[in-house]
Amino acid sequence: MDCILHIFSNIIFSKGEKRSLLLDLQHNKFYFAPNSMEAFAKGCEGKTKTEIFASFSEEEHPIVEEYIDFLQKNMIAAFLPKEAIKNFTAISKKYESPYLFENVILDVDSNFDYKIIYKLDEISIPYIQIRFYNKIDYQLLQIIEELSFVSVEIVVRFGEFDKSALEKYKKVAYLYVYQSPVEEQKKENNKTYYFKNNQTFECIGKVTKHTFSINAPHVFLSLQYNSCLYKKLYIGTNGEIRNCPATEKFGNILDLTVEEVCQLSLDKHFTQMWHITKDQIEECKDCEFRYICTDCRCFITDKSNIYSKPKNCKYNPYAAEWKE
Ligand code: SF4
Ligand code: SF4
Repeated sequence: MDCILHIFSNIIFSKGEKRSLLLDLQHNKFYFAPNSMEAFAKGCEGKTKTEIFASFSEEEHPIVEEYIDFLQKNMIAAFLPKEAIKNFTAISKKYESPYLFENVILDVDSNFDYKIIYKLDEISIPYIQIRFYNKIDYQLLQIIEELSFVSVEIVVRFGEFDKSALEKYKKVAYLYVYQSPVEEQKKENNKTYYFKNNQTFECIGKVTKHTFSINAPHVFLSLQYNSCLYKKLYIGTNGEIRNCPATEKFGNILDLTVEEVCQLSLDKHFTQMWHITKDQIEECKDCEFRYICTDCRCFITDKSNIYSKPKNCKYNPYAAEWKE
């Protein structure tokens, strides 16, 4: 039975200036590869091993062997019977969401007005990040447990929370703890803790090897929309509304009706950066990490150019090097 090379549709080739990244969206990992790998794999797709070798000179056979071995070993492609291939349906890379807003950042201080959380519940936003200025407000977490939010992220200063008290809040999935004496990541009771020694929780769009998101929703989102600002809502301590903490103000959630807040998701001015993709950004468009990276549009290298590279990225895609 003739077997032909088939590339699995959970693989995305992300070509950079210097090298490529092969994103495996089934196993949430990536591989570095030379830029010639994509052309090789796609050129060989649908051919038998004999046909592939026949299309290269004998001197090239060792490298062909090496490339095929890489593709097979990492489950990027496989030789399969022709008849079996029709059973592999291609994955749609279209990003679709039923929500008007998908995530909200909520800043909470000691004067927090609980009317805000009930209004956000009516808007129906699945993911909420709460940045506590002081200690964690457990009463707020209890209210959230009974509302429609799917998952909660907490940002809090080291020493301002009690791990055992958090256990009963099932929706709390992630905790970002800043001003920690040690940097570490650990999972306990279905919650992931990220201890950071940052002095503040202010968001500055920092990009490091550790800020990448290797999963299908993030990659598909990045292919079509802005990977940070799309369908994001920010509510400040006094109820002010912004797209994110660093963008301009659009009224106050306590003064607007739920319908008026929902209307912002259709407002051209509010959503002006939602459609800027990494493929349009200077330097990022040549970077192999662009679909797993976050695109900060507030802290950029050239304030007069909305398509300039995020300021707080230390990666140089032309040299494939991270600066210290
Ligand atoms: S655009 Fe920048 S400042 Fe705004 S939330 Fe995203 S990373 Fe933070
Ligand atoms: S160059 Fe752009 S895409 Fe690449 S790591 Fe930096 S911010 Fe991300």
